[in-house]
Amino acid sequence: MAIYPESLSNLIEQFQKLPTIGKKSAQRLAMSIVFRDEKSVKEFADALIDVKEKIKYCEICGNITEDNLCDICKDITRNEDCLCVVEDINDLIAIEKSGAFHGKYHVLGGLISPSDGIGPEELNIDKLLKRITDENIKEIILAISSTIEGETTSIFLSNLLAEKNVRLSKIAQGIPVGSNLEYFDQLTLERAIEDRREVND
Ligand code: ZN
Repeated sequence: MAIYPESLSNLIEQFQKLPTIGKKSAQRLAMSIVFRDEKSVKEFADALIDVKEKIKYCEICGNITEDNLCDICKDITRNEDCLCVVEDINDLIAIEKSGAFHGKYHVLGGLISPSDGIGPEELNIDKLLKRITDENIKEIILAISSTIEGETTSIFLSNLLAEKNVRLSKIAQGIPVGSNLEYFDQLTLERAIEDRREVND
């Protein structure tokens, strides 16, 4: 005999597919839906569809947006010749929250990871090179986690950018090896950006 009716066990399965949601949390969340009124459940379902239909990637930097360009790329008050290169949107948001950076971003969309079959060609690197020329970028800050994949990606980018006429720096100081940027508190991130070290080849 099944413990849950089919529709409920299906919903539990869907919740369980979400990051950080284990079996017990999935059961609690699904059960909470059962007890919510129909209107609020419909609003929840609509919000899911809405976000999927409206959110797309900024044509310039790869940030999320509902327009062709994100608010950061559209912001004329930001430093235009300094780019902060990040792994993903979570890291971008973490740095934005720290308030320590006032330039623009470039989102790689992942890190080089040979064991997962992710090479440089899978990342948003061609566009980065094009931006350096097109937007006359003078400084690049690599704000990439110090995991093995992060270090591999940083070294690859450092070598690639060595030929370009840009000042290249890396936020490494104060950031423990093997850690993910998105889990840092704002002060740590702020210091890491301020204390960035120039990368010498
Ligand atoms: Zn953008």
